[in-house]
Amino acid sequence: MRTHYSANITSKLEDEIVLLCGWVHEKRNLGKVKFLVLRDREGFIQVTAKKGATDDEMLEVIDSISKESVIQVKGRVKLNQKAPNGLEINPEKIVLINSSESPLPLDVTGKVPADTDTRLNNRFMDLRKPKIASIFKIRSILINRAREYLGEKGFIEMCSPKIIASASEGGTDLFPISYFDREAFLAQSPQLYKQMMMATGLDKVYETTTYFRAEEHDTRRHLNEVSAVDLEMAFIEDEEDVMRVLEKLVCEMIKEASGCEKELSILDKKINNPTLPIKRITYDSALDLLAEKNKKITWGEDIDTEGEKLLGEVMQEKHNTEIYFITKYPLESKPFYTMPDDKKISRSFDLGYKGVEISSGSQRIHDPVLLKARINYHNLNPDNFEYYLKCFRYGMPPHGGFGLGIDRLLMQLLDLSIREVVYFPRDRHRLTP
Ligand code: ATP
Ligand code: MG
Repeated sequence: MRTHYSANITSKLEDEIVLLCGWVHEKRNLGKVKFLVLRDREGFIQVTAKKGATDDEMLEVIDSISKESVIQVKGRVKLNQKAPNGLEINPEKIVLINSSESPLPLDVTGKVPADTDTRLNNRFMDLRKPKIASIFKIRSILINRAREYLGEKGFIEMCSPKIIASASEGGTDLFPISYFDREAFLAQSPQLYKQMMMATGLDKVYETTTYFRAEEHDTRRHLNEVSAVDLEMAFIEDEEDVMRVLEKLVCEMIKEASGCEKELSILDKKINNPTLPIKRITYDSALDLLAEKNKKITWGEDIDTEGEKLLGEVMQEKHNTEIYFITKYPLESKPFYTMPDDKKISRSFDLGYKGVEISSGSQRIHDPVLLKARINYHNLNPDNFEYYLKCFRYGMPPHGGFGLGIDRLLMQLLDLSIREVVYFPRDRHRLTP
């Protein structure tokens, strides 16, 4: 239906006939001259109809079209210094494809501000704003780059079930569902399945996936439906091997996003490219750094939201970095499958970015006896994990992996809240649209 997007109209096309499709962004009537601004995915273009030069019927069509209606314009490209991008279309034909009701539920021009709920309730229209669309163009590029990079590095894309019989980690944050005459759950992570893949010989797998988590609280960085890149790899020496893959992956993703010049300029954002290797600090030294800032965390506890934020500031101040690994967490604070380093410490890591956790990972236990002991230690029932434990009894290589939150990475990249970077976010209150 179209020969060009608005952004492809350049002075090289002067006097040529083009066919454009899009939405009526704005309309202006100066009596003898009528303007409308056509908006499409790539930008805007002015359509100018002059009395005398255009037949009267078309002038009437322009008058009758409501804002946000969908139109097709056939017209000639003309240079015009006064037009917003120095170019305009003199229409030969305007077809009203589908008209929009008015008043509009949301002002697409952004002149009338709307609160987050109103915006999310009208997300289809919110996404017509170039600023909002830019977020999702970057999101798509981030995910594509992750897939492409991992493919280049020999990782095989897997797909784990999202309907599962038992908790992956024994957490309370599961959504139960009814599965015919049985109870089942929505998967909170592909953890057990990607580990089971390590017993297949495929060695290096990943998945771009959804987690479902019945998070207890509403926060700026938690949703109940989450996107992530999950990865697992076999024949590792220790968690460092996994961290090296994660840091390269994240740098590639950030680099790709930082190349989205048009979108970043629309969003008025700048992205700093991290340098490799990413700075590593142990959990113990993270606690020391926080103590220096009068933030006390008892050894063994998770670093809370306030602590994470403060640590982000300290890492910027002291080490001049926005992104950093925190390694060697207490064994107590990590899930049962995490490989112990000694009696108290685990071979685990988190990746922090501007004061927010964006990824967690570790070397996993591959010895079935130790694994069963750890399941018992966490007061979980090994019988519920039989299908998983079985994979460890017939030849399981050493392995490790991570989960990298895509929503988290993007929100930190663009300094937005998590609801801004998800098309249709799911939180405690929101189930539609
Ligand atoms: P947090 O402590 O921040 O709640 P977590 O440690 O429970 O996260 P993991 O189980 O480590 O989360 O999941 C791996 C990654 O998935 C996290 O580092 C984060 O990027 C993302 N993630 C997990 N839960 C959520 C959520 N509810 N909303 C958004 N992202 C999430
Ligand atoms: Mg975590």
